Amino acid sequence: MEDAMNLSLMNMMNSRWNKMRLISIVHASFQTRSLYNDESALMKRKPDHQQSPADLLSRFLSIRNILPRCVQLVQTGLCQPYSVQSRTELGIPRLLTSPPVDLLTPDEEMMRESVAKLAAEKIKPLVRKMDEESRMDQSVIDALFKNGLMGIEIDAEYGGTHSTFFIANLVIEELAKVDPAVSVMCDIQNTLIVSLFRKYGTKAQKDKYLPQLATNMLGSFCLSEVDAGTDAFALKTAAVKQGDHYVINGSKMWISNAEHAGVFIVMANAKPTAGYKGITSFLVDRGTPGLTIGKKEDKLGIRASSTCAVHFDNVKVPESSILGEIGKGYKYAIEMLNEGRIGIGAQAKGCFEATVPYTKERKQFGKRIFDFQGMQHQISHVATQIQAAKLLVYNAARRKEAGLPVVKEGAMAKYFASEVAALTASKCIEWMGGVGYTKDYPIEKFFRDCKIGSIYEGTSNIQLNTIAKCLEQEST
Ligand SMILES: Cc1cc2nc3c(=O)[nH]c(=O)nc-3n(C[C@H](O)[C@H](O)[C@H](O)COP(=O)(O)OP(=O)(O)OC[C@H]3O[C@@H](n4cnc5c(N)ncnc54)[C@H](O)[C@@H]3O)c2cc1C
Repeated sequence: MEDAMNLSLMNMMNSRWNKMRLISIVHASFQTRSLYNDESALMKRKPDHQQSPADLLSRFLSIRNILPRCVQLVQTGLCQPYSVQSRTELGIPRLLTSPPVDLLTPDEEMMRESVAKLAAEKIKPLVRKMDEESRMDQSVIDALFKNGLMGIEIDAEYGGTHSTFFIANLVIEELAKVDPAVSVMCDIQNTLIVSLFRKYGTKAQKDKYLPQLATNMLGSFCLSEVDAGTDAFALKTAAVKQGDHYVINGSKMWISNAEHAGVFIVMANAKPTAGYKGITSFLVDRGTPGLTIGKKEDKLGIRASSTCAVHFDNVKVPESSILGEIGKGYKYAIEMLNEGRIGIGAQAKGCFEATVPYTKERKQFGKRIFDFQGMQHQISHVATQIQAAKLLVYNAARRKEAGLPVVKEGAMAKYFASEVAALTASKCIEWMGGVGYTKDYPIEKFFRDCKIGSIYEGTSNIQLNTIAKCLEQEST
């Protein structure tokens, strides 16, 4: 019996994600164990990232035996949780009823660390090449899928990571520190494509697509057209009903991930007489006859992220490919973009960390350039802006997770974070002097990459319009 359990726990540990969940169980168990007045093990234990799976397993097994007893003692009142004072004396953080918005849970911290490691090992060595060739390396896409980063909120029953929206944003933030082109691919997949399937997919649609989206299939979100950018609902792509299927005709512009996507969520008007209330979301598989991927844009930044036109020439799809309800596509698009743009905000925090160490090494006039007060004031100003942007993004993400409104908060986070990203990249080039302007350092790429933040998923003007609308409603 014990052997069988050990074996199944060992199997659990084989996956990175299960390892993380087990670490969480161990964390929770240790907290309970500390109630049982055996804090020494808690205080002496190695940090989790230094623990081998075997260490964790043995901790788990030892705790398992005392856990029921701890619960019993607390329930009967024979054992009280540590008081605030004794927690402080023991160096255990106080239990907070309202924790700071940027305080990460152990799960969140571990995720952040593991994505940072993945990005450093698997993505960083390819960043320059991918930018020059304007192509996402397949190994990067594979690594994101293999590590469960493309289906972060997808339920475990569909092979997803079964994690949270906040964690999705942390992942996007960590990837963006290394390559914003990679982070946008991950962002669109998680915060638009997967979210739409989870929220509006039928059981059959979920059964078909979610396991693939979690493991090997990219999705694209097709809204913009040549004459429908900010005014997205002026779109012309039409879906005409013929018997039990629809025929889609039209062209989409600027579609991210189109080069690799296996499924396209296409906004098309199924009832033009109803105006924007005819806009409907259709699922179109890549191989469907009549669907062609057009020219790839040659862009200023995020060059490894593919941005292509997508054409629909008499594309026939069954009625069952409608995602959600007929005529509700405009509503879904607004909703998803309102939430998804929080992720775009999370991309803003890249190049500062790559620059400040340089200012501490480079010497002029016999001093580190960091030591000049004129430099320190600028660096402190940018650091403060970055922290403020981070708090806006984290707060919006935590609000979304709590089921609170995020229209205003998401728009503020995206607007402010994209402004801060642009300020940061520009300042970092200045702080590095001439070398910052060359391709020997990553700063010029961050400078090119950050500009998109004020354009896609709603331009900065549109975020300001949205904020103003919310403010107007609040004051009436
Ligand atoms: C790299 C990249 C990736 C993209 N990925 C996708 C994708 O995956 N899917 C997708 O559907 N789309 C995508 N887009 C399209 C993107 O969302 C649009 O470019 C964006 O919405 C702006 O539309 P536009 O380019 O037509 O600019 P326009 O709408 O022509 O805007 C031009 C300027 O006018 C301003 N403006 C317009 N209307 C107003 C107004 N009412 N008030 C104040 N100012 C206004 C804008 O703020 C902007 O400054 C992508 C674009 C890029 C560049």
